[in-house]
This record gives sequence, C-alpha cells and structure tokens, in this order.
Amino acid sequence: MQSTEYRYDLHTHTFCSDGTLSPEELVQRAVDNQVTVLAITDHDTIEALKPASQFILQNELPLTLINGVEISTYWRGFDIHIVGLNIDPQSEPLTALLAQQYQRRIERAVLIDKRLQKRGIEGAYEAATKLASKGTIARPHFAQYLVDIGVVKNTQAAFNKYLKKGAYAYIPTEWCSIKEAVQIIHASGGVAVLAHPLRYDISAKWLKMLLDDFKTAEGDAIEVLQNRQTPDDNQRLARYAIEYELLASQGSDFHYTCPWNDVGKIAVLPSTVKPVWHNWYLTR
Ligand code: AMP
Ligand code: MN
Ligand code: MN
Ligand code: MN
Repeated sequence: MQSTEYRYDLHTHTFCSDGTLSPEELVQRAVDNQVTVLAITDHDTIEALKPASQFILQNELPLTLINGVEISTYWRGFDIHIVGLNIDPQSEPLTALLAQQYQRRIERAVLIDKRLQKRGIEGAYEAATKLASKGTIARPHFAQYLVDIGVVKNTQAAFNKYLKKGAYAYIPTEWCSIKEAVQIIHASGGVAVLAHPLRYDISAKWLKMLLDDFKTAEGDAIEVLQNRQTPDDNQRLARYAIEYELLASQGSDFHYTCPWNDVGKIAVLPSTVKPVWHNWYLTR
C-alpha cells in the first residue's frame, strides 16, 4: 500500500454534533474533494457513523470511512479533546462513556442557560437544544442562538464574551479524564489522538506537561496537521511527535463550509513523522 495513493482527513464534524452538514452531505463533500479516507469525529457521539457508511455503500463511493469520535476530557481545568480513530461503535465501554458525556453536556447546558438568564438572555436552553436536535449539544449551538437574537454579531464574539474559558457563561465540566478516554478508545480497538495541541491556549511548558500526561496515559498520536496552522506550527508539532514518540495524525476539523477550511484541505505531513495510518489495512 502506497500512502500517497490516499488522501486522509481524520477529523471532521456533522450535524450530529456542532457541524452543519448531514453525514451524507459530509461524505459527498469528502468525495468531491478527492478525500479517500475520512474519519467522522463528532463531539462525544457516534450517531453519524451508520448513516455515513450506509450512504457510501448505497452509492458505491470511492471512500473509506474510519469510525471516529472526539471525546471531551477534563485536564487541570482545561477541556482537552481526544480523538478516537478506528473505534468499534458497538463497544460497550465506549457507548457507556458517551451516554455519560451526553448527560454531562445537558447538565452543562442548563448551567450555561442559568448564567445567560442572569444577563437577561432568555430561552437559550430551549433554542440550543433545538439546534442540537440531531445529537450532542455543544457551545456553538449557544453561540448560534446569541447571534440569531442579535446579542452578539458573530460566533467568535459569542465565545469571547460568553462561552470561552473564563468568560461569563463558561462552565467548567467534569468530563472523563484523559486516561479514561484513552483506555476506552483502546478497549474499543481504536487509537487515541490528542486533538489540535496548539488550540488550548496554554504555554509551551504546559503543553509539554499535557504531552507528558497524554504519553503516561498511553495515548498513541497527536494531530500534527490541523486547520489554521502555520508551517511553523506544523514543524513544531512534528518535532513533538518525534520527541514524545507519538504517531502523527491530520484532519481539517471541518465544521461548515467557509473560506479558510474545507474537508480534505490539509498540508502534507513531514516525512520525519510516522503517520497514524502506517499500519492500517485499506481495502479500497
Ligand atoms: P463544546 O464541546 O460544547 O465545549 O464546544 C467546543 C466547540 O466549540 C469546539 O469544537 C469548536 O467547534 C467550538 N469553539 C471552541 N472555542 C471556540 C472559539 N473561541 N470560537 C469559535 N468556536 C469555538
Ligand atoms: Mn466543534
Ligand atoms: Mn476539538
Ligand atoms: Mn473537532
């Protein structure tokens, strides 16, 4: 198998979490963009996997679907995302964890709503729940509502003013630990990938601490290529992958169509790292 024959996007979202495309639309977009190996990695849900794989089969599309998930974890006060690739959607420990995370998301949404009410913003819980009716409720659903009612002018402003860590309606959440996420991904046959290491707003020293802890938890890989990274960022992450003996993954983290991101719009991994797919057997 020549990896150059394949085009990988191993981090994408559908409307089953905070993306805007249906699983079918996402799959079609991946094919249109010449992606040949696609992982769907919705936040704490695997709902999109079945409709996506059915759509690929029915239409005989030239695409391999990798069963994925992006698990929210709690680490020293930060929300850290662990992507599971090649997980078994039937795995009991995994579905049990996702049920817990679903519940935590609802409890958090209630608390976000309470905070917003204190600022005179009514109806956020109901609206966000409605926007999230296809799957898990996430902060972008609240952001959307705040934009819709004109409280802020865009999603970014909604996060800055209300939803990001430290902002008024940010609720620290006791997600599972990194260790638990990695263990459950492994138990379901998958590999555990530390998602977008440069997007946690932490210092280099803390990032190294995070990589140490991820390594101790037996994590397998880090995302070396993500959207909106500079070539320097990519090189830096490639160096971390080598230093920590972690495999390298890549993904667009596609949520919706916009000028700066698309399914499959990813740079090329440096030859110095070992790709997370190095031992995958692809039949296509
Ligand atoms: P949640 O899983 O509910 O905590 O929501 C996390 C999601 O919110 C991320 O996956 C992003 O899609 C989005 N997000 C997080 N921070 C920001 C930000 N500063 N601006 C815009 N979107 C963000
Ligand atoms: Mn998201
Ligand atoms: Mn993420
Ligand atoms: Mn993501």
